[in-house]
Amino acid sequence: MNVLGYAAQSAQEALAPFRFDRRDLRADDVAIEILYCGVCHSDLHSARNDWGNSMYPLVPGHEIIGRVLSVGKAVTRFKAGDHVGVGCMVDSCQHCDPCKQGHEQYCVEFPIVTYNAHDKHDHTPTYGGYSEKIVVSDKFVLKVPDGLDLAGAAPLLCAGITTWSPLRHWKVGKNSKVAIIGLGGLGHMALKLASALGADVTLFTRSKGKEDDATRLGAKHIVLSSDDAQMAAVHGKFDLIIDTVPYVHDLNPYVTTLAINGTLVLVGYLGELDPMLNTVPMIMGRKAVAGSLIGGIAETQEMLDFCGKHNITSDIEMINMQEINDAYERMLKSDVKYRFVIDIATLKA
Ligand code: NAP
Ligand code: ZN
Repeated sequence: MNVLGYAAQSAQEALAPFRFDRRDLRADDVAIEILYCGVCHSDLHSARNDWGNSMYPLVPGHEIIGRVLSVGKAVTRFKAGDHVGVGCMVDSCQHCDPCKQGHEQYCVEFPIVTYNAHDKHDHTPTYGGYSEKIVVSDKFVLKVPDGLDLAGAAPLLCAGITTWSPLRHWKVGKNSKVAIIGLGGLGHMALKLASALGADVTLFTRSKGKEDDATRLGAKHIVLSSDDAQMAAVHGKFDLIIDTVPYVHDLNPYVTTLAINGTLVLVGYLGELDPMLNTVPMIMGRKAVAGSLIGGIAETQEMLDFCGKHNITSDIEMINMQEINDAYERMLKSDVKYRFVIDIATLKA
C-alpha cells in the first residue's frame, strides 16, 4: 500500500512530505492506521545523523498509536478496530537467548528498529510513525488499555518503556530513593512512573523554573545541578539515578550522590564520556554506572497495563505534521511540556 509520510532526505534538510510503499500483509502482520506519533529526541538525533548511522530517506517516529485496519491470516490477538501501539522495534531474530527471555531490545543480531533499519525478510527499509499507516509483525504490536487517552499514550511506547525498564530491573519500590537527571520527555515519564511505584523521587535539573511542574509530576525534591551546595546536600543518597541527558556531560558529580550499592543508569547520551569517570567513589561504595536500552515487548505491555491501571499518560503538546521542523528546534531548547505528539490526521492537510 502506498502511504504518505514525512522524511528527512539528508542530515541538513528539513523534514518534508515523502511517499513510499508499505508491504502487503504477511500471515503474522497487522496493518495499522496511525492516529498519533510522539516526537522523541532520538528522532531528531536520527534525522540529523548525530549517531553517524542514518540512512536516507529517513521517516522517524517510534511512539505510535493507531487503529488496526486488517490482520494477516495467522493473527489471532488483534482484529480490525483495536487500538494498538508500536514502539522502537518492529522485529528481532526471535531465537537468540535475549529474544527468548523477552529482551528483544538486546537481540544478538540487533532488533529491527522501527525506522533506519531493514526488514529481515525482504530487506526493504523500515519507515517510522510520521506516516499514515504501518505494517508490523503481531509479536511487536502492543494492546492499549481501554480508557487511556490515545494521544497521551503515544510517548509511553518509547519514553515510558525506556524509563520503566530500569525502574523494574533495579527493583524500585516503596523504600527506594530514585533520582532523575533532566526534565524532558523521558524525564517526566520517569518522575510519573517512579512515584507511582512508591519511590521517593528527586529531580536533577539544570533549568530554573521547572520546580512546580516537577512537583506535580511526582518529584518530592528538586536539585539544581549547577548549585554546588544543593549537590553536596544529596551526597550518598540515591539507590538509582536515571540519566536522560542527550549530550555529553560530567557524570562525576552525580556518582557521588549515589548511596552504597547505588547505580547510575544512562539512557540518554550515547558515546564516550568527557570528562572521564573517577573510579574512586565507585570503588569506595560499590557504586555502578550502567546503561539501558528501551525495554522488551512483554515488559512494554506490563508498563502499558500499569499505566492503564494508574491512568498514567504523557503530558503532551499536540502538533500538526507540518510543524515538525519547528518542534525539533524547540526540543533542542527544552521548550516542550513535555512531549510533542503529532496528530497524524493533519498529514494530508
Ligand atoms: P528531551 O525531551 O530533549 O529531554 C532532555 C532533557 O535533558 C532536557 O529537557 C533537559 O532537562 C536535559 N538536557 C538537555 N540538554 C542538556 C545538556 N546539554 N546538558 C544537560 N542537560 C541537558 O529528550 P528525550 O526525548 O527525553 O530524550 C533524552 C535522550 O534519551 C535522547 O538522547 C534520546 O535519544 C535518548 N533515548 C534513549 C533511549 C534508550 O533506549 N536508551 C530511548 C529513548 C530516547 P533539564 O532542562 O531539566 O536539565
Ligand atoms: Zn525514542
